[in-house]
Amino acid sequence: MALPRLGSAHPASSMVHLYSRHALLGHKLALLRDRRTQPARFGQLLKEISLMLLSHATADLPVREVAVITPVGPTTQRVLAKRVGFAPILRAGAGMIPAAHELVPGAPIWYLGLYRDEETLQPVRYYDKLQGYPPVDIALILDPMLATGGSAVVAASRLKEKGVEKVVYVGLIAAPEGIALLTREHPDVEIHVAAMDERLNERGYIVPGLGDAGDRQNATGANDPTDDPFVPEEV
Ligand code: URA
Repeated sequence: MALPRLGSAHPASSMVHLYSRHALLGHKLALLRDRRTQPARFGQLLKEISLMLLSHATADLPVREVAVITPVGPTTQRVLAKRVGFAPILRAGAGMIPAAHELVPGAPIWYLGLYRDEETLQPVRYYDKLQGYPPVDIALILDPMLATGGSAVVAASRLKEKGVEKVVYVGLIAAPEGIALLTREHPDVEIHVAAMDERLNERGYIVPGLGDAGDRQNATGANDPTDDPFVPEEV
């Protein structure tokens, strides 16, 4: 039995699930976006938000029935029927791995190194060792920001080339441009995001977004807020 979908479907595609009306997700996302949020706290919030999103994104995975004996007696229960793996896109997607490990312990993690060429904004593949990895049936791409969508498109193509039957994208903030490209190039890929923002700026950053998700986790930004002389307590 399929569980009711909590994320509202994007008008352009029933494959896009937006959780922007989820109160706790919105609360955590507001803290994450705040420029004063320091890397350690940013990483913790990223993990918490990823746990919530992954819980929604995995709600309708295929299941099979198994016999279980509880201390009270026998019962039939449903467990995952397919092999699930995660494909975090480096660098920012690495921050979502702790949530993946926690939810599906033992699932293979297929790292994909993709960066965006600053001039062309096109994705460049620099790390890809999927060859020889244990096969999975369902792969969840992990990348906090769906900006131009170029990296997600390359990642989905790569996973399909490796024989993955079903590809799901899980991210925090999307730009309309990223959703449009990914749904156009891979209409069969389910997209789960906590928010859809206004647009991309000329440098390919999501507005208002949260800045560079990799820099925010690793304190590597040029204008890192850790330079602020005083950071007030969260309320
Ligand atoms: N990647 C990020 O980290 N942030 C953006 O706004 C866009 C792409």
